[in-house]
Amino acid sequence: MKLSTVPSLFVAVVAAAAAMLVALAATPSADREPPVVTPGTTGSPPSDAVVLFDGKDLSAWKSEDGSEPRWKVADGFMQVGFKGLMTRQEFGAIQLHLEWASPAEVKGDGQGRGNSGVYFQGRYEIQVLDSYQNKTYFNGQAASFYGHNAPLVNASRKPGEWQSYDIVFHPPTPGADGKVRPGSFTVFHNGVLVQDHIPVQGDASVAAKFSGATPTGPLLLQDHGNPVRYRNIWLRKLD
Ligand code: MG
Repeated sequence: MKLSTVPSLFVAVVAAAAAMLVALAATPSADREPPVVTPGTTGSPPSDAVVLFDGKDLSAWKSEDGSEPRWKVADGFMQVGFKGLMTRQEFGAIQLHLEWASPAEVKGDGQGRGNSGVYFQGRYEIQVLDSYQNKTYFNGQAASFYGHNAPLVNASRKPGEWQSYDIVFHPPTPGADGKVRPGSFTVFHNGVLVQDHIPVQGDASVAAKFSGATPTGPLLLQDHGNPVRYRNIWLRKLD
């Protein structure tokens, strides 16, 4: 090795080490050992989940008017009945899993067929609708961020078949300057990506129970007058 190459080799090594440090610093969780979570078998919650409905009872829920919930529970599912259901607990950023089925017997069309919905913080609705060969406005069909954003594709199963939503939600947050910083929705419908990190502004969806950006709020399942069924509802808190 020539003497003149030593300084440049030294510089190269230092530069590489510095680049590595910068990369590590830029990775938010680089300094934290990821916790161990036992995943569920297909269709069951992981070990750190808050289970909202396991097919047996409505103890995690109340009616949206504050009274005791009156939805029918049978054979591992609950069915939309009197008024929407709201969680007793409030949540901020979450990963949500739920399964739903529109009625096997097809009645109505457009927004009148198998309509329900999942309102995050009682404000922002991911639409539940029988969108199998059922036309409606694009940002009102199944897996739309209702009134805001259509799904990337229509991944609907047939009426009466169980369908899944896996949703990552970050709420919009009010900043110190009084302006609201957007949150986001990422949604998988039957395992298919349909909302890809879509911004959630502070304005609530139509028929929302609450308005205004806040750190937490309840999850609400909509009563739209159709006997939609739900099962296997759990979430993981992300904040
Ligand atoms: Mg709806």
